[in-house]
Amino acid sequence: MLQSQLFCKTLKEVPKEAEVISHQLLTRADFIDRLASGIYSFLPLGWRVHKKIEKIIREEMVAIGGQEVYLPILIPKNLWQETGRWKTIDPPLFKLRDRHGAEFGLGSTQEEVITDLVRQRIKSYKDLPLYLFQIQDKFRNEMRSVGGLLRVREFIMKDLYSFHTSKEEAIKYYQKVKKAYFRIFKRCRLQALYVEADPGTIGGELSHEFMVLSETGEDKVLICKKCGFAGNVEKFKRVSVCPKCGGLLEERSAIESAHAFFLGTKYSKAMSANFVDKMGKIRPIVMGCYGIGLGRLMASIIEIHHDSKGIIWPKEVAPFQVHLLRIEKTPRLKKASEKIYEDLLNSGIEVLYDDRDDKTAGEKFAEADLIGIPIRLVISERTLKQNCVEIKKRSEKRTKLIKIANLREYVK
Ligand SMILES: [Zn+2]
Repeated sequence: MLQSQLFCKTLKEVPKEAEVISHQLLTRADFIDRLASGIYSFLPLGWRVHKKIEKIIREEMVAIGGQEVYLPILIPKNLWQETGRWKTIDPPLFKLRDRHGAEFGLGSTQEEVITDLVRQRIKSYKDLPLYLFQIQDKFRNEMRSVGGLLRVREFIMKDLYSFHTSKEEAIKYYQKVKKAYFRIFKRCRLQALYVEADPGTIGGELSHEFMVLSETGEDKVLICKKCGFAGNVEKFKRVSVCPKCGGLLEERSAIESAHAFFLGTKYSKAMSANFVDKMGKIRPIVMGCYGIGLGRLMASIIEIHHDSKGIIWPKEVAPFQVHLLRIEKTPRLKKASEKIYEDLLNSGIEVLYDDRDDKTAGEKFAEADLIGIPIRLVISERTLKQNCVEIKKRSEKRTKLIKIANLREYVK
């Protein structure tokens, strides 16, 4: 991509409403644009990162047997009423009426929709287990939306729903999803804590959050220094010592980056989603559900990976792998830069090429640091004289000159 063509206008100043660092940097680097409180557009750079996170999540869901579906967001009132959540869900639904007066709730979570889908098709134990997932828009009628992508009213979320014949089988799969989630965090270069949590209005018997420790997080986690136990403060309100070993608990701020619920038969009983077991007996399907908000994960990555100059994207989620900066504008240098750009593209490397003539070297460097692409290449008359480019990793201070002929092996 030529930077002269890129739809991106970076800001030097920190926007007033941006309190947390991820919000400041996403706005300054022009990855997102705020339309209204908690409602954001993703610009080309931001959407490229979002798509990369989506790809990682999709791959890990498919790897544990997930089949992708698309579920409607406009959900009829009667379906919400089957579980009683039309009135009780927290945060409350965004509700609307069509021209005939029929009422709908915008999906904030899709348990009712997926249970309806499954109850029509699953009849026997032979049809189970089943794992379905969706990656799509959700709406949350939050009381307060601050913190950029950390707390929003419209966002894209991955939800995996699992359906089983027994609790044992469901718990086994719950553990499998846990491992898949840790692989997702690892690929995004995040360390998450697996925290016992309160199931809230999603409900069920067992629930865990995946928490990324960060000073800007709105959630509080209690951690046992002795045995590593971690619990959500809401669930362990009245507890001062570790329920596992009796050790002292320490309170830390964290970002809830994913959530798992063992739903049991809460939804299947309420909505009569049953199957016939091996003995010919009719029983409710046992369910689990597992969510990750993509934008929040993106913000979490920035909360962890940044410095005073800007974002430091981990390779696998970076908008581009290489940022090529041309410093001067002589015809000879332009020609050499274009050749490098084409060669890298032909090797399958994603390159953002700063070909702009109206920016100073200082401006180009500052923008490159802000945007945070993992590898920066600088070509100038000085480097070209030695048939070299200067290479620098965003995460390191050191620069070095490498021969243009050897470039490909350095940036792979
Ligand atoms: Zn302990």
